[in-house]
Formats: sequence, C-alpha cells, structure tokens
Amino acid sequence: MKELLKRILGLRFSIGLKFVAIIAVILSITMGSAAIVNYRSHNQLFLQHLEHKGEMLGQFIASISPKAILSNNILALIEYVRQVSHQQDIVYAMILAKQGHPLTGYLNNDNPYIKSAIKKVNNRRLIPIIDEINKNRDILPMRFPIRFNDRRYGTVLIGLSRARIEELSRQELIKQLLGSLFIIVFLCASIFIAFRYSALRSILRLYKGYQRVAEGHLDHRIKTRNNDELGDLAHAFNDMVGKLKVSTQEKDIALNELQELNKHLESRVEVRTHALEHLNKELEQLALHDSLTGLPNRSLIQDRMKQAISNAHRAGHTLAIIMMDLDRFKEINDTLGHNVGDHLLQDVGSRLRATLRNVDTVGRLGGDEFAILVPDTDSAASVTIAKKLIQALEPPFLLEGLNFSIGASFGIALYPEHGFDASMLLKRADVAMYIAKQSKSGYFIYDADKDTHSTSRLALMGDLRSALDEDALTLNFQPIVSVQDGTVIGIEALCRWPHPEKGLIPPDEFIPMMEQTALVRPFAEWVLKSALKQWKIWHRNGTDVLLFVNLSMRNLHDSEFPEQISRVFDSVGLDKANLILEITESVIMADPQQVLRVLPDLQKFGIDFAIDDFGTGYSSLSQLKHLPVQAVKIDRSFVINMDSNKDDATIVRSTIDLAHNLGLKVIAEGVESQATIDMLHDLNCDMIQGNFICQPVEANEISVFLQQRHTSADINTA
Ligand code: C2E
Ligand code: CA
Ligand code: CA
Repeated sequence: MKELLKRILGLRFSIGLKFVAIIAVILSITMGSAAIVNYRSHNQLFLQHLEHKGEMLGQFIASISPKAILSNNILALIEYVRQVSHQQDIVYAMILAKQGHPLTGYLNNDNPYIKSAIKKVNNRRLIPIIDEINKNRDILPMRFPIRFNDRRYGTVLIGLSRARIEELSRQELIKQLLGSLFIIVFLCASIFIAFRYSALRSILRLYKGYQRVAEGHLDHRIKTRNNDELGDLAHAFNDMVGKLKVSTQEKDIALNELQELNKHLESRVEVRTHALEHLNKELEQLALHDSLTGLPNRSLIQDRMKQAISNAHRAGHTLAIIMMDLDRFKEINDTLGHNVGDHLLQDVGSRLRATLRNVDTVGRLGGDEFAILVPDTDSAASVTIAKKLIQALEPPFLLEGLNFSIGASFGIALYPEHGFDASMLLKRADVAMYIAKQSKSGYFIYDADKDTHSTSRLALMGDLRSALDEDALTLNFQPIVSVQDGTVIGIEALCRWPHPEKGLIPPDEFIPMMEQTALVRPFAEWVLKSALKQWKIWHRNGTDVLLFVNLSMRNLHDSEFPEQISRVFDSVGLDKANLILEITESVIMADPQQVLRVLPDLQKFGIDFAIDDFGTGYSSLSQLKHLPVQAVKIDRSFVINMDSNKDDATIVRSTIDLAHNLGLKVIAEGVESQATIDMLHDLNCDMIQGNFICQPVEANEISVFLQQRHTSADINTA
C-alpha cells in the first residue's frame, strides 16, 4: 500500500493524471459553458421581471394620476410617487406636466445613484438630476403617458435599477460554478482512483514481471485475467520472455563454445608465442652474432662500444679497442680451402675468448678481422692484453692433421685519447693494426703521425665505393688476335678509374686493395655488366668476338657468384654470351673443387675460362687437366722481354708446349714488338695481345679497329 501511495505521488505525469486532466478540461469547458448560458437566461428573466414591474407601476400611476392632476391635488401625486419610489429596484419616480415641467418627483437621498447625480449636477432641479442618473448603464428609464379620455395630461417617469438583479444573477452563476467545480473534482478523483485500481494494478503486475525477468528469472510468467489491451500486453510479454529464454539458452551454449575455443586459442597462442620468442632469440643471436664463430658481429660490437663509451664517459675512465687480423690467413684460405680457413677462424675466436676476461668483448668484424673491446683500461694495460693475445695465438693450430703457425697483428685505439665515438675508434684501431702488420711488430698503439698512409687507403676505398655508386669507373678494351692471320678472336675488358683528384688510377693500384674489402662483389658486378653491355652492342652490329673479363680471386670462391652472374645477364638482357672469365692460377689452385662446383652454373650462360698470368704461380700444369679451361695467358713479364731475354723465351716456349699438350690454346700478352710476334709465330703460339697490336682503348676506338680486321668468336680459328 505504501508502495502504491508512493507510486501515486510519484506518478505526477502518469497516464492516470494525463487522463484525468483531459477529463477535467472537458468537464470544465462543458460545465462552465452551461453555467454561463444559465447565467444569461437568468439575467434575461430577471430583466423581463423588472421591466414588467416598472410597466405595472408606471401604468398604475398613469392611470390614477389624471384625477389628481385635474384637481390639482399635488399631495396625492406626491404620495403616488413616494409609494412607487419605495418599491424595490425603483430609483426614482416623477410626474411631468403636459408642458414637460415636473409636477412632483421623489428622490431618495440614500440611493447612491441619486447621491452621485446630485453631487454632479450641483443643484436640486429634478430634470437635470434625472438626466444625469439615466446616463448610468444600470438604470433602465421608462416613460408612461398620463391620458384620460384621449387627452394627455402629463408623463410618468420611472427609473429602474438593474444592479440588484445583476447581483442576483452573479450569485447564481457563482453557485453554479462552485457546484460544477465540486462535481468535476469529485468526478476526476473518482475516475483517477478507479483508473489506479483497475489499470494500474495490471501495469504494476507487468512491471513486477519485467523486474523478475530482468533479474534473470526467465521462467516467470505474468498471470492475467484481463481481456483488454493490458491483457494482450501481458500475453505478448510472456511470449517474448519465452523466446528470450530460448535465445538466452542458445547464447549460453554459443558462449560456452566460444570460451572453449578461446581457451584453445590462448593455449595455441601461448605455444606460438613461446616458439616466436625462441625464434626471436635465435634471430637476435643470428643478427648480432657471427654465424661462423658465434662471437658478436660488427653491429653488436659497435653497440657494446657505444655503451662502454658512455659508461667510461660518466665514470671518467679510459677504454681500449683492439683490432686484430691474421697475417697469413688469405694464403691458408686460398691454398687449403674454405673449410680449413673457417676452422682456423673458429679456433682463433676460441683462443681469444679464452684469454680475455668476461667483461671484455671479443667479436668478428668479418674475414679474418676480430675486434676486442676492453673497458676500463689504459694504454699500458692494453699492451699487456695484446701481448697475452699474441702469446695465445703462438701455439700452432691443428688443421686437417697438419700444424700451422699463424701470426696476427693487433691495432690498439684508446678512448678518449684517439677518438670519442665507436666508428672513429674502430677506424684508428684499423690504422694501428695496418701499421703493426707493415712493421711486423705484432701490435701497435694508434699514432696520428703514422696515420697518413692508412687513412688515405681507407679514403681511397671510400672513394671507390662512391665511384661504383655513381658509375664513375670506365672500361678500356684490348683486342686479342690470331698470330696466324691477325683475325680478332677476343677483346679483354680492363678497368680504369679516373679519380677526380688523383687522376687516372691504374687497376694494379686499387684492385689488390679492394680485394681485401667487401667491394669485390659490387666491383665484379659492375665490370661484368658494363663489359657485357658493350659486347651486346658489338654482337648486334655483326661483330663476333670472345669477351675476356678479369675476375678477382674472391669472386669464384663466393658461393653467390653464379647468382650474381645470372642477375647481370638478366639486367643486360642476355641469356648467353661468348664470355671467357680470366682467373689467375693461384685462384684455381686454392680450391679446384670449388671452381668445379660453380662451373656448371656458369656454363649455362656460355661462359668459359682462361688462366691469367700463367707462369707466375707455382702449380703444375697437369693439375689443370681436369678443369674446363679453354686457354692460358702467358704473363706479360715473360713476353715483353722474350726477344732479348733467353730465359723468358724458354719459359714462353715450354709453357706453349705444355699447354698444347693439355689441349689448351695459348695467348701471349704484353706483345710490344714485331720481333716478339715473329718469335711467337714460330713457337706456334695461338693468340697475341699487346700494345704493339693495340693498346687498351675506349670502346668506340675498338669499333674502328674491328672494322679493319676479320673477327671470329671461335677460339679454334686462332
Ligand atoms: P692483366 O689481366 O694481366 O691485364 C693485362 C695488363 O697488361 C693490362 O694492364 C694491360 O694494359 C697491360 N698490357 C697490355 N698490353 C701490354 C703491352 O704491350 N705492354 C705492357 N707493358 N703492358 C701491356 P692494366 O690494364 O693496367 O691492368 C692491370 C691488371 O689489373 C690486369 O692485369 C688485371 O689483373 C687487373 N685488372 C684490370 N682490369 C680488371 C678488372 O676489370 N677486374 C679485375 N678483377 N682485374 C682487373
Ligand atoms: Ca687479364
Ligand atoms: Ca695477365
């Protein structure tokens, strides 16, 4: 009940109230209108009564007055008038003579109309006072002629006041309105209460039902006997709850399945995450460590250096960077092969690591270069460390059952004495190492005074990198012709470097240096690409020649070399070319198996091989037997002086004989005279190359040369 009351009070703008308000308005309009109509008709009736009363009194006086007028009995007239004037609602009564002047009149001084009229007129003459009174809207003036025997004797004037009947009508109206108000209030209250008890109970039941459902009791149903819209609503509600229950059950099932799936997924994600973490660690290890030795690589070393430098800076300490490379590594690698070289590097790495403290970092920069970071150390201590490391490398290394002694050179740079950042310190340690190697002193602490050579070496390599990037290198070409008839069999591409400051740098000066660096690969690619482009032009113009291109030692040992060649052929737009790669003896002898391995991949492009600088190496020709080599080139140092130097001539002759025995063609380079040509002709040499025939020149000059000669891309025509 309390709840209900609360609701009733609370429902200020509830449907009930709205409904009742509408009823109240309608009732008010209806009953108010009725009251007003009633009031009007009452007023009308009263007025008629008043007029009737005035008429009766006026007629009456008019009928009794002639006698008194004729007898001039003014007293009687006064009495008539006075009698009439005392009647209810009569304000004044007056009798006028035939001529119009008043015979008698009665003015009740207590009457408020008369009082105010007298005050206004300001004298006691009757006619003006009556005129003044008649101006009042409440006053109803009436005139009655006094006749007797068809003769007129005067007039009766009567003034009636409507004030009382207006008042009466008003009171009647108020009574009616109050009555109506009472009825409206009563009706509205009754309707409201009835509404609350009939409709609201059902609505409340609906509301409670909704609450139960909202609390999750989906089995709850609203009981209703209503056969009306609310009943329909309750049924619809029950229906909806039924459907809700079904869909909730379905949702719960789906949710359970989803949770199951989620759990499954989470566990899979967890497994994957573990795997990824593991992989990440491996990747990190791979990215930051050298795969061969497992030591930190260049980027990790640089990172550690940066850290160590900032620590040293904060603590005011010094630190040392020691760079090391092996003295005869290239020889071992070239002669004994990669595997042996790799083993050696691993062993060196382990010995360095074992000699150093845990706080020191030892890493491999690439090739046979190692770097050692020693925090909190001065120059004397770093020399001690370098000596310890030299000692550690002294015992011979056991490789493939053989003992090898190998020396190393150490370059030391100190922070902050020799540089403030990692790259400067590394550069300086490199310079120091270079000097150590030159002077065979084992170790060297960086000294700015001795830096000139090394920095220029580094600068030169930097310049070469830019020259490659900017396509600033050029190629010259030198024909290789048949000794027999001068037919052009081939053309050798020879690189030229026009340096912007140093002028033309000969290949002998920069190529050996470059071969120690990673530039080997892009350089070979550039040479091959440029040479093949030129060959393609000649070939299109109908010139058939072999293209001879020099390879660096390291190219053939590079496992990515065939891929690189394929890339070059693609970019030039060729799938085959009459290409002969010139490799020096020592390269082939260092790892003949490797040469045999890459060969099939290269033969696809029509590539053959020639052995360059033959005679300078120490291999025996018979070792070349199994290699698919087309020709040998006798080194120019033997050819140049063969016409005057007997030893040279002997070497040339025996080389030609040996090569022919192996079924190889022979090219003599460095031909500087007709006498040499004649000798070579007699010695049965196949092809010649040299300044006497044509110096290395630019491509367009070669084109002119080619126009004057026969050409053949068949080495057997020589
Ligand atoms: P090389 O392969 O033995 O090349 C022959 C060298 O002999 C060339 O020197 C050539 O100019 C020179 N020459 C030719 N005819 C005569 C002559 O009649 N008398 C004399 N005195 N010399 C003659 P260049 O061009 O200075 O090349 C020197 C070396 O540089 C080459 O020796 C080769 O080993 C290397 N080289 C040149 N270009 C390349 C290249 O593109 N790649 C590689 N890897 N090495 C190259
Ligand atoms: Ca050559
Ligand atoms: Ca040569």
